[in-house]
Amino acid sequence: MPSKDSKPFPPARGMTSFWRSNPGSLDNHRSTESLPSECDILIIGAGYSGASLLTHLLANEKYKDKSIVVLEARQLCSGASGRNGGHIKPDVYNLCSALSSKHGVQAAVEIAEFEKANLLAVREYIAETGADCDFTLTQAVDVQLSGAQDSSLKSRYDQFVREGGSVAKDAFYMHGEDAEMVSGVKGAQGVFEYTAAHVWPYKLIHHMFEASLVHDNVNVQTHTPVTSIPNQPDADGRWVISTTRGTNTAKQVVMATNAYTAALLPEYDDKIIPYRGVCSRIVTPGPDRPPLLANTYALRFNDWDYDYLIPRNDGSIVVGGARRTYLRHLEDWYGNVDDTQMVKRAEGYFDGYMQRHFRGWEDSGAYTDSVWTGIMGYSADHLPRIGCVPGRKNMFIMGGFTGHGMPQIFLAAKGLSKVTLNGTPFSETGVPRLFEETAARLESPENFVLDVYASLGTPSKL
Ligand SMILES: Cc1cc2nc3c(=O)[nH]c(=O)nc-3n(C[C@H](O)[C@H](O)[C@H](O)COP(=O)(O)OP(=O)(O)OC[C@H]3O[C@@H](n4cnc5c(N)ncnc54)[C@H](O)[C@@H]3O)c2cc1C
Repeated sequence: MPSKDSKPFPPARGMTSFWRSNPGSLDNHRSTESLPSECDILIIGAGYSGASLLTHLLANEKYKDKSIVVLEARQLCSGASGRNGGHIKPDVYNLCSALSSKHGVQAAVEIAEFEKANLLAVREYIAETGADCDFTLTQAVDVQLSGAQDSSLKSRYDQFVREGGSVAKDAFYMHGEDAEMVSGVKGAQGVFEYTAAHVWPYKLIHHMFEASLVHDNVNVQTHTPVTSIPNQPDADGRWVISTTRGTNTAKQVVMATNAYTAALLPEYDDKIIPYRGVCSRIVTPGPDRPPLLANTYALRFNDWDYDYLIPRNDGSIVVGGARRTYLRHLEDWYGNVDDTQMVKRAEGYFDGYMQRHFRGWEDSGAYTDSVWTGIMGYSADHLPRIGCVPGRKNMFIMGGFTGHGMPQIFLAAKGLSKVTLNGTPFSETGVPRLFEETAARLESPENFVLDVYASLGTPSKL
């Protein structure tokens, strides 16, 4: 694990991902040569969170004449949003059924309904604005390869439905031979199938910034790391934010820094945990295509080891995961913000992946075209953290998406825009109640990430 003395700032430049292989015109954008010295609202971070918040703020008349500054440490969309799996997967049965026993059925159902609504809202946004981002509506097929895990997931699913979680019925369950036939995955024990989508995340986010920059009151500054934030605002309630290029004094600040939040706000140490993930792109040579994959997939080997993949419209496959290769080595991933190089232990994992797991792909010649790493922001209690930062007046946060931000961020940003604009109470934002950041959550010693790690055993037991 990296030393507690080193703060988790993003390195100056991450390795290239497939999504960032042909960056857009705004990648190194600076609206003005020098940094604006003040603004009404400052957003730190130009990923999906920053882009979505900007989009929703600008949709409101009230913000048409307020100055908005976005500061990004590196290139536009160069954090997790520019290196993820491109999978928008509203989870209607798994996380919610797991949360239900701890938080109650209704609170869990809210999350599933929210994720469904999020997918529809993003689809609508893309259709209305004509964002060119390869958005594809499809089915998610979650495949259990372990019989034991299949039974336990199914019984948890049944219990959730019995207790009132009827939203889970949106996921259709199949078992045994049907599972393998339907999924095409060798050895499938059971599958859950439900509506999902995939997208080119960088293109979507770039489009959101492009559309926002039409407004004169928006100023985006890339390559401008925020270096520190004081413990308190000034006497007027404004925050004096230090960057490598001077200071900006802001009436309101939104932390859209996800995995990197603790570098600036120490109270997020071990609350939003940098967690290194890996992804790859697999291609097939020649004109003879292996069986068409129309669905997206998760391949679950056990409770903690799973991969996810999306078939792209160009015939390639983006696959992420490879946890079994490195998860037992805490230093490889926990608190680690190094996205300048691949996780060495995971490097060869995706070679032959399609041949190993998918029927009809044995002679496809499919090979790994590229691999990359990215830093997720895992929340210590598994839930995103949205709303006011406790103890910091006029400061807000949206982060801690725990590797699952794509079906949550767009509407979370819409909800947060209401809080920053009108002081709307969180309970009226439409964001699930469990996502609200609170002092109690920040003070809790819970750390589910280390709990999972502790259950794996040490490397020597491998
Ligand atoms: C390998 C991988 C695969 C994933 N796959 C999926 C998937 O398929 N589906 C899914 O739902 N989710 C997936 N995720 C998670 C998803 O990408 C995130 O939930 C989402 O992108 C978070 O968006 P964000 O804008 O909050 O964070 P980010 O995209 O990380 O943006 C935060 C930004 O803040 C900037 N920043 C940080 N500190 C500072 C500072 N001090 N000064 C200025 N700027 C700063 C960073 O440079 C960064 O650009 C994956 C993530 C990874 C890494």
